[in-house]
Amino acid sequence: MNKNTDVYSQTKDEILKIGKKFKLDKNKLENFLEPNRILEVKIPVKTKKGIKIYKGYRSQHNNKLGPYKGGIRFHQNVDENEVKALSLWMTLKCAIANLPFGGGKGGIIVNPKELSESELEELSKGYIKKIYDIIGPLKDIPAPDVNTNAKIMKWMTDEYISLANEKNKKINRTLYSTFTGKPIEHNGLEGREEATGYGGVIILEEVIKKLGLNKKTLTMAIQGFGNVGFYFAKFASDLGYKITALSDSKGAILKTSKEDSFDIPLVLECKKKQGVLAGCYCSGGVCDIKKGKIISNDELLELPVDILVPAALENVINENNMHKIKAKIIIEMANGPITPNAFNYLSKKGVIIVPDILANSGGVAGSYIEWKQNLENKKYKKKEVFTMLETIMKKAFSNLWHAKEKYKTDLKETSYVYAINKIIE
Ligand code: NAD
Repeated sequence: MNKNTDVYSQTKDEILKIGKKFKLDKNKLENFLEPNRILEVKIPVKTKKGIKIYKGYRSQHNNKLGPYKGGIRFHQNVDENEVKALSLWMTLKCAIANLPFGGGKGGIIVNPKELSESELEELSKGYIKKIYDIIGPLKDIPAPDVNTNAKIMKWMTDEYISLANEKNKKINRTLYSTFTGKPIEHNGLEGREEATGYGGVIILEEVIKKLGLNKKTLTMAIQGFGNVGFYFAKFASDLGYKITALSDSKGAILKTSKEDSFDIPLVLECKKKQGVLAGCYCSGGVCDIKKGKIISNDELLELPVDILVPAALENVINENNMHKIKAKIIIEMANGPITPNAFNYLSKKGVIIVPDILANSGGVAGSYIEWKQNLENKKYKKKEVFTMLETIMKKAFSNLWHAKEKYKTDLKETSYVYAINKIIE
């Protein structure tokens, strides 16, 4: 979401280079990179100061493997190129996870914090009015993304169903599958909230098994303590990994003893109480300041841990700090946390990096299960959802690990070549 970088051109250049290296058909690759359709819409919203018009987009990148799938982002820095790039990543991510989906993404240029609740609802519903014709259970299935959530998905679903009603379409429960990430009580999925973090930990477990390491001896630092960071930390610590450092936007905390791991639910409780992580050295039922210290967000990334998990923002590992990174394994849970140059540098140094399009695909895999649940008019239990997620994630990992041996390169280039070949061949 950096205004100065054209993330779409950057991604295109990166993929064209990879395509050249692996001798992919240039014409087919260039065609593939262009989205099938970009819809630009104007959405009027009644505000106290009169009608305000917001600009929005929906990019439908590729539907060779199934309906377009991807979130809707509300942010002041949304632009056409960003939406195009995000939809391209979704195409690749769905192909890697073997989901019957293509890639899509939407966005509205807005700072949602400046809108009242009713204005936000009008904007969300207005956007759906404008893109109604191109979405649907078997056409294009939106989901939440930055600054959108289950409540917004409910407003959008309600609007979609009311428009379908007006157009005399046969209303049935399958129409709920037009959106994923809905509240559980409104046809959402149990376990969807945990899916991205849970999926990431399944991938971590597979990597550790392949490398023949003993997880109980491994230390881990996690950047970001939101949805993804929290659940990743929770599931990893349940499995015995030692979480020795955590951070949020306000600062980072470190365990002073390498043998000691954070008690993740207690840290969350503490963070809720005081609003920030800094100061939460919870262990064994107490928050004991002697057992930890506050460090900076930059220091967290440079710690001598075995596993580093960036789960917050893009480009946090870059040309400025790549030489200081000491972790041996990095799991990219955020989207794009490592710049292409830093990725190449660290990969050449022997760091095992699991790319975002594999590591965080538990989110879209969870969405797939929600879509299936609504289409089949079922209600899955959390346990069933976790079992299905495990199957999807393990298969995706195993396919890529084999492909990595065939292509003799890192997991990121492997993911790109594997996914693109699947779509263009
Ligand atoms: P979130 O808003 O719930 O949490 C973000 C966390 O990052 C917060 O704890 C925030 O305090 C922290 N943070 C912000 N700036 C930071 C900084 N400079 N240093 C350390 N921490 C910082 O968001 P999320 O849903 O957890 O998403 C995190 C990342 O994962 C994003 O890149 C997102 O695109 C990606 N992702 C999320 C999902 C999902 O299902 N939520 C799926 C796939 C990918």
